[in-house]
Amino acid sequence: MIESPLLEKLNGYIGGRWTDNAQGNTFDVFNPATGDVIAKVASMSESEVEDAVAAGKSALRLTSPYSIETRRKWLEDIRDALKANKEEVGRILCMEHGKPLHEAQGEVDYAAGFFDYCSKHIQALDAHTIPEKPKDCTWTVHYRPVGVTGLITPWNFPIGMIAKKLSAALAAGCPSVIKPASETPLTMIALFTLMDQHTDMPDGMVNLVMGKASVIGKVLCESPDVPMLSFTGSTEVGRKLIVDTADQVKKLALELGGNAPFIVFDDADLDAAADNLIANKFRGGGQTCVCANRIFVHEKVADAFGEKLAERVNKMTVGDGINGDVDLGPLINKAGFDKVKRHLEDALEQGASLVAGKQPGDLGDGLFFPPTVITDVTRDMCCYREETFGPLVPMALFRTEEEVIEAGNDTEFGLASYVFTGDAERAQRVAAGLRFGHCGWNTGTGPTPEAPFGGMKASGTGREGGLEGLFEFVEAQTVPRGF
Ligand code: ADP
Repeated sequence: MIESPLLEKLNGYIGGRWTDNAQGNTFDVFNPATGDVIAKVASMSESEVEDAVAAGKSALRLTSPYSIETRRKWLEDIRDALKANKEEVGRILCMEHGKPLHEAQGEVDYAAGFFDYCSKHIQALDAHTIPEKPKDCTWTVHYRPVGVTGLITPWNFPIGMIAKKLSAALAAGCPSVIKPASETPLTMIALFTLMDQHTDMPDGMVNLVMGKASVIGKVLCESPDVPMLSFTGSTEVGRKLIVDTADQVKKLALELGGNAPFIVFDDADLDAAADNLIANKFRGGGQTCVCANRIFVHEKVADAFGEKLAERVNKMTVGDGINGDVDLGPLINKAGFDKVKRHLEDALEQGASLVAGKQPGDLGDGLFFPPTVITDVTRDMCCYREETFGPLVPMALFRTEEEVIEAGNDTEFGLASYVFTGDAERAQRVAAGLRFGHCGWNTGTGPTPEAPFGGMKASGTGREGGLEGLFEFVEAQTVPRGF
């Protein structure tokens, strides 16, 4: 069992207090590197989730809103608490997610960056009067909090994803009911411990509910007191939330699946492209929605690029992330492992060939999947059509710019994309042609707090980060005044 001063309570948090889990229902949290159960966490009832919504409602202030200074202080306090506890939060994150310790601790810094960004730009949410005077009135635009929000997060960034949502929600003055993924609730409990100890937010401003997604989702979708949900996760669940909230026309911010193209032209710096692909693809074990999923390489440089990837991949170390210097941890669970294996098997059966890695039959026990590169991938293969969410690098060859833009867009998703070329005009054309919310030119870097990030098409709606993200949790209200 995991021991930590930040995990003294393993229950929910409602109205400024830890719940007592009177019913005694719990679920197990595993360390994916060892398979051990490391904690038993409260599985909450429908009435507790309703209590959390009621607590949120009691913290919402409309007629006497929390001042910008007050909200800024909450954000600064959370940022400072995360930075001061980066090692311990990162250790907890590493143990329940499996990503290497340095990456887990880096994620805590990343999370602190969102609270920092919102604290520095919160003034943008102040009311303003617009200069034009149509008819005989002046118009003031106020940014009102949407209300109590449901924040639902996945397991792949246990602190990063909540930071994006919660920073903007608090900046807007929105209370929230937060549901972490059941694979990684401990990092969230650690965050609540820090918020409990280091901030003076009013009771009910932040509430933690854990347990069955169907129970929690039902309350959040059906309650008229929750006018907005911000969700990151699968497109399948995102679609369900759209349907389940349609009657009430709830505001939704959805960051859903991806199927990122990573395009390498023949004039690209191949070493830089290979380094960036490795950093991008193997982040979080390949289990992120911004990880390259289809690697399109110009046919003239395909062999050279494949060799560079193989050279790098063959040096990578795989193991328990807590042991400091590993490059790649385990996959999150058996279903995740089996999916990557199925994608590899399917590609090899349909004519792809192995450039680096192991044959499916040589994969050992446990959830450790070796970094693997395959080539001659085609559009009918599962690894091309579906998001693999694992350390498999599938290369497909292309000849022309038009062909690769069309191939890149040949997916229902539109989250992240990457293009490597030495030709600036081509980069601009390709970026404009790709229907993706993010297009990295000669970089595989993902979102940062300063820039709006989100999806087109079935990858979702809304943006997180940047001023666009800051404005997600407010409603603009116009108050014209006559003379
Ligand atoms: P992943 O495949 O990354 O686990 P999911 O979409 O299944 O993505 O889950 C993302 C988050 O959404 C998790 O916190 C999960 O528990 C939650 N979730 C799953 N189903 C529902 C639902 N019906 N209502 C609300 N939340 C849900």
